[in-house]
Amino acid sequence: MYDYHVHSSFSGDCKYSMEDMVKGALEKNIKILSFTDHVDYDYGNDELDFVFDTEDYFKELKKIKSNYKGQIEVLSGIELGMQPHLVKNINEKINLENFDFIIMSIHTVMGKEMHHGELFADRDLIDTYFLYYDEMLEVLDNFSNFDIVGHINLIDRYVKYMDNNTVKLEEYKELIEKVLKKIIEKDKGIEINTSGIRYGINSFHPTVELLSLYKELGGEIVTIGSDAHSPDNIGFDYDDAVELLRELDFKYITTYKNRKKHFIKIE
Ligand SMILES: [Zn+2]
Ligand SMILES: [Zn+2]
Repeated sequence: MYDYHVHSSFSGDCKYSMEDMVKGALEKNIKILSFTDHVDYDYGNDELDFVFDTEDYFKELKKIKSNYKGQIEVLSGIELGMQPHLVKNINEKINLENFDFIIMSIHTVMGKEMHHGELFADRDLIDTYFLYYDEMLEVLDNFSNFDIVGHINLIDRYVKYMDNNTVKLEEYKELIEKVLKKIIEKDKGIEINTSGIRYGINSFHPTVELLSLYKELGGEIVTIGSDAHSPDNIGFDYDDAVELLRELDFKYITTYKNRKKHFIKIE
């Protein structure tokens, strides 16, 4: 198992140390674990601090790597929350060199974090979908220092804030196709983020429909991540994620190291 989306206490919303998480991963027989701790500038909620000190991070990771050598491969990753205005000077804010793997996620739209529903107030639901994917596309047009897009349909998790919460893929298909094509054209990938099930959307991120569309458009690069914020969720529903990839005729699971792709054949 290769879990490429795991948080530790370097993330503002996770209380478990890297070591706690690695111990959890060992119990699940994880072969490679990539930490992907949150870095979100201008997150849109002053109460949450989603920035960590990369020097401390690499120091701790080095210790963990040597303590667990031969038992599990632990990689350095980051989940970088991006917004269009951050593209210009992200390199002045954080040194993105030396990471093994970078997830680019959209957590904040129009300067508003999605988590507490502010973005959805006084708007038609479909308009928020357009805003979300428009900003993703704008970032993709101007930013390339990442490997995969995290939980690409995260917005699906937050439709709960709306009274009328049905929106069909058809309604924004043209836009999402542009997004997927851009990802493919840039030789980047997406992930199956299994946390969707835990957060009650009855599906992984992305949905089967969306994942099929990605495949249909020529997408092949897919990592698998639990988005675990606690040791017990590491490797969550991994086998089902592999099964889904197999059903949709994907040939490989993608892993990364030193920002380079490796393709693991799905047997
Ligand atoms: Zn995220
Ligand atoms: Zn995450």
